[in-house]
Amino acid sequence: MTKYIFITGGVISSLGKGIASASIGALLQSRGFTVRQRKMDPYLNVDPGTMSPFQHGEVFVTDDGAETDLDLGHYERFTGSSCHKSDSISGGRIYWNVLTKERQGEYLGATVQSIPHITDEVKRFIKSDLHGEDFVIYEIGGTVGDMEGFLFLEGIRQFMNEVGRDNVLLIHLTLVPYIKTASEVKTKPTQQSVRKLLEMGLSPNIILCRSDVLIPENEKKKIAMFCNVKPEDVISAPDTDNIYKIPAVYHKEHLDDRILNYFNLLSVSNEPDFEKWIKISNVLGNWKHNITIGIVAKYCGFPDAYKSLNEALAHAGISNETKVNIKWINSEHLEEMNPTEIENIFSDVDGIIVPGGFGHRGVEGKIKAAEYARIHNIPYLGICLGMQVAVIEMARHLLGIKDANSTEFMSECTPVISLVTEWEKDGKKEIRDENTDKGGTLRLGAYISKLLPDSLASKVYGGATEISERHRHRYEMDIKYEDELKSKGVVISGKSPDGKLPEIIEIPAHKFFIAVQFHPEFKSRPFAVAPLFDALVKICLKK
Ligand code: GLN
Repeated sequence: MTKYIFITGGVISSLGKGIASASIGALLQSRGFTVRQRKMDPYLNVDPGTMSPFQHGEVFVTDDGAETDLDLGHYERFTGSSCHKSDSISGGRIYWNVLTKERQGEYLGATVQSIPHITDEVKRFIKSDLHGEDFVIYEIGGTVGDMEGFLFLEGIRQFMNEVGRDNVLLIHLTLVPYIKTASEVKTKPTQQSVRKLLEMGLSPNIILCRSDVLIPENEKKKIAMFCNVKPEDVISAPDTDNIYKIPAVYHKEHLDDRILNYFNLLSVSNEPDFEKWIKISNVLGNWKHNITIGIVAKYCGFPDAYKSLNEALAHAGISNETKVNIKWINSEHLEEMNPTEIENIFSDVDGIIVPGGFGHRGVEGKIKAAEYARIHNIPYLGICLGMQVAVIEMARHLLGIKDANSTEFMSECTPVISLVTEWEKDGKKEIRDENTDKGGTLRLGAYISKLLPDSLASKVYGGATEISERHRHRYEMDIKYEDELKSKGVVISGKSPDGKLPEIIEIPAHKFFIAVQFHPEFKSRPFAVAPLFDALVKICLKK
């Protein structure tokens, strides 16, 4: 029978619950079990698609086109398996579902209330779309004690009673601060946050303690005594210099054994298959080479806004035993710079990436970056908006269309990039126009691109003739410029299967200039780097 693990966070936010959950998934997988990972976010947005990356970090996109919390990216990277639309829910979606049912008369005149209707919807989500996985791990967003998280926790409490406590494990991730002046760790915040859980009828079975240091045995005993757990179920989660070392750290702390012990599954579990995590821990830090990639972006200083991109570059670093340094270049600053300043800023980068983005702010700076890379033969990877700015740049400077632009940024222009109004999804036509709602209506999820034989794109993807990558965009290059661009040495090397939507452009005479309408970073994994990032790092190493 499926076992359920719920992971809550205490004391403060940003403790790394997502990475902790993902690492637990990886641990259980290494013991031979199948794992599904899910996220429940109590906030009231229906999904994170329209939330600012400043506040919420990157929007992660699944194969089946859900715009989700970035933690789903961690789950995929740590376990190697793809998440689904049904693996993520927000408080807003729960309310939306309940209110939709109310409007449709499904409650047959009953007074619709938080309990039971909202909590029933929480329970429905917990049980939905499962396929006999050994473990389903649910991360609860926010911090215990947050008002909006209450109904989720109440739903979990009820669910535990329904499926039996033996089938449910609660892990509480908490902060155990190390106080330098006293040279000791403090357990009080943990005691208090567990007390908050107890008030809601939930008693954690394992307490995972984030701390600068390993938690000394005495403090473990103290936490155990105050929080009703065994000392061996108080687990240290010390800081590491790289997230991919965490599964090995948890394993050393016997977290997998303790989880399996709780469910009486120790005897049927495999010997831990930990080879790959040990190997990766050895590569990290023992770099043979060093390169710098300039990322020209709007949200510099907010690396969470580009989480999957950073990780994909880290994966390419792992596969090439190379330390990949990132130089963040603010696209708005670039707009103000003269040619000498621009030359200076790019003087120490081996390659340039212009990542995805929305809105007109900083776009002219990104166009300058694409132009600089093209003219100076610097490896360039354009991602989504990074492809669109490259096309605008080429239209302006190679085709002489001075006012070339995207209708996203300017209505009075020659639109080389415009709203994609029609496309095929699973054999059906999707149609959009200017008035379509902003949430969840982009061209989202995995789509096939057909690759031009012998192109750079096809070489990068190991000679493939078609690939599937994840998309998240509303605008699209106008294919009518294909021949004109070709005459100037720019080739469309990837297209949608119907040939209507350009997916990849490249410049065959350039060292490495490739720009893609999709987001290759979403599918990159530490043990299976996305080909485009691997190729970028490889070309940068050929200095
Ligand atoms: N803003 C552009 C569009 O909607 C690019 C989106 C992106 O980079 N993800 O098409």
